Amino acid sequence: MNLKSLSSEELADYLTALGLPKYRSNQIFAWIYRRKVCSWEAMTDLPLELRRFLEDKGVSLGCLPVVSQVRDAGGAVKYLFGLDDGETVEAVYLPEANRKTVCFSTQVGCGMGCLFCATGQRGMVRNLTPAEIVEQPLRISVLTGARINSLVAMGQGEPLANYDSLLKAVEIINDPRGMGIGARHITVSTCGIIPGIERLAREKYQVNLAISLHGADDQLRDYLMPINRKYPLEPLLEACRDYISRTNRRITFEYTMIDGINDRPSDLANLIKLLSGMLCHVNLIPFNPVPNSEFRRSGKERIQKFAAGLNRAHIKTTVRKERGGTLAAACGQLQGKGSL
Ligand code: SAH
Ligand code: SF4
Repeated sequence: MNLKSLSSEELADYLTALGLPKYRSNQIFAWIYRRKVCSWEAMTDLPLELRRFLEDKGVSLGCLPVVSQVRDAGGAVKYLFGLDDGETVEAVYLPEANRKTVCFSTQVGCGMGCLFCATGQRGMVRNLTPAEIVEQPLRISVLTGARINSLVAMGQGEPLANYDSLLKAVEIINDPRGMGIGARHITVSTCGIIPGIERLAREKYQVNLAISLHGADDQLRDYLMPINRKYPLEPLLEACRDYISRTNRRITFEYTMIDGINDRPSDLANLIKLLSGMLCHVNLIPFNPVPNSEFRRSGKERIQKFAAGLNRAHIKTTVRKERGGTLAAACGQLQGKGSL
């Protein structure tokens, strides 16, 4: 049993079933998420026999060891965490003046096979458990001493292909008795799994939604992102419009700029046509090189032209500031290796 996979209510149920009073679960929850300890020994206000009992039962506090870490000049840090089965997973700390963001992973590898993505090249290995998701920002808050107040599910994996674990992790991370990070400060990025978007639109926890678009016509998107053959643009955009009308929330569309592939004037025209009139925001991501790929980043001028064209068409657009590039920790570069 890994306690970090349990919400506070589930923890109380679990401990009650072991014959413990409810206040013990509040104590243990606070030790895990407020004081962030990694051993039963550290929980000094619990009776010694109780600590021994839980330890002997093999109840895990779910702390993950750091296998390696690399830091760039701007203070971004990429951590490689070791998992119990020998796999590893990455998360990235991205500090700004007021915002301390953790970019976390939801799977080891990813099965979606997007052509431009290093994680996709590796293929799907396995889903992360809620505990393994929750632990990433929690451990990074200990390692950096920072108060993490923003989370993005933009590390390895497709979050909506691991929906139940993701939502359980959001519930635990959101709990004011623990980390207390509001759903509005959590962004989930998806390659466009329509059933997942439909479920998210109906959830109690209303996280921010980002859609990886990268192509504005089906032919191009089929080529870049195989998932488009299953969930093409028209129904995807319909699901987005429905999400917006149910939640009243703006969607972010991510668009990686790849030289000569999706940055032509016709691509800009298609994108404008696709998104006009929607409550949305476009985030242009300069393509980050990945191994074994001939794709190259669009030129600066081309990217600026795209942004200007979209803004002129009243589609609010920003160009993503580069972070973590020197760490091989930027978008799409996470492969689970942790090396530079
Ligand atoms: N699987 C999810 C979230 C992880 S990827 C998704 O695809 O949305 C996070 C973002 O990085 C996505 O928008 C993804 O399309 C983008 N990305 C992937 N590879 C990239 C690359 N090589 N350069 C720039 N962005 C990339
Ligand atoms: Fe998976 Fe996202 Fe990479 Fe596509 S871009 S392969 S969905 S991690």
